[in-house]
Amino acid sequence: MKFLSLFAAGILVLSGCAGAPSREPAQRVSPPASRPSIVPSPTLPGITPRPGPVVASPSEVTGTRFIRVLLPGGTSGVVLEGETIRAWGADGRLAAEASGRVTLAAVGERIRWNGSRLLGESLDAAGVPDLRVGTRKGTARVRLLARKGELLAVAVVPIEAYVASVVSREAAPRFHPEALSALAVAARTYAVGAAAKPRDPAYDVVAGVEDQVFDGMDGVAAVFREAADRTRGLVVRYGGEIAQTVYHSTCGGRTEDAGSAWGKDVPYLRAQLCDDCADSPVYRWEYRMPDAEGRRVAKALGVPAGKDLRIAVMGRTPTGRASRLRISSGGVSREVQAAEFRRAAGYAKVRSLKMEIVPVAGEWRITGEGWGHGVGMCQFGANGMARRGAGFREILARYYPGTETNGETP
Ligand SMILES: [Zn+2]
Repeated sequence: MKFLSLFAAGILVLSGCAGAPSREPAQRVSPPASRPSIVPSPTLPGITPRPGPVVASPSEVTGTRFIRVLLPGGTSGVVLEGETIRAWGADGRLAAEASGRVTLAAVGERIRWNGSRLLGESLDAAGVPDLRVGTRKGTARVRLLARKGELLAVAVVPIEAYVASVVSREAAPRFHPEALSALAVAARTYAVGAAAKPRDPAYDVVAGVEDQVFDGMDGVAAVFREAADRTRGLVVRYGGEIAQTVYHSTCGGRTEDAGSAWGKDVPYLRAQLCDDCADSPVYRWEYRMPDAEGRRVAKALGVPAGKDLRIAVMGRTPTGRASRLRISSGGVSREVQAAEFRRAAGYAKVRSLKMEIVPVAGEWRITGEGWGHGVGMCQFGANGMARRGAGFREILARYYPGTETNGETP
């Protein structure tokens, strides 16, 4: 699912944050074979509520499922802020306590607490009334791990709170409630599938575009929390297995086969006609790529480009999306995957591969349809269906044909 939602992108553009990284919706169709398949304990012993003044929030009662989300932050260290901050070591004993602000840094495989005490390689920290991790508020509990001098901060989040937060970033608040519900089920299904095949022994998903964007639980609007509540515990299954519920902003008229997009066929991720996303602001789009930018992209793709740069679509998938491009200049010619070109040019500029590219007067005129990889659920299509009266189950059945939606624990 990994793409900047239109809404969030709009906010970034409006706020003048043009340098914000491009996002692309999650595409976890084929996890790397190297990914360890360690199944975490659903309630993560060691992070369950402990005695003392740190009181668990009502959502963290026994039986609540958690997802472990790696927060971005770099390697230099992590700042925790809270009225009271407590941290427990791997042995479950209280290791440190502070008020206000704590700076943590990794020293080899150990964690330095506030520039002085050297503690073990992992700490479970919680705050009262709340914990701020770096700039992120509303992360009630966090596990910190020192790994070869790098400090990893892993938020331990109740899964329903995670779903509401993800939907708040992936959808627009003006979406119909049934469309938000469909997205909540897709986001939850993705999370449950990811937790069964964690990215790393220490965390299930990352907070960024590689999985689903997570910005903490603070300030999530009521419409998104309600979408999670209405669909609490529901997931999408195919043949009894958790489905790979990828989604995107706008398909532009027809969704894409997973096989065409990523080289791996998935029975319920097949191209579907979609006539419900026509009111999306990116149903049709145009990007005029300056000549200098075209040369930069060509160079990034291995073709040192001069004035004679040529870019041509050499192949398309059955749904009309570009699959291969030829880039040539100065006697050097290279054929690249169209997806590589899109990544190099920027996901928010070349919004989809359903595009044409034509040189016009010193620039490249790129016209296209839709935003995102096009696989799975079309969000604007889901919204169009909901406005026509469809419920979230009907929406999910259309974009993930052959699947069924039911409780997480059948
Ligand atoms: Zn669509």
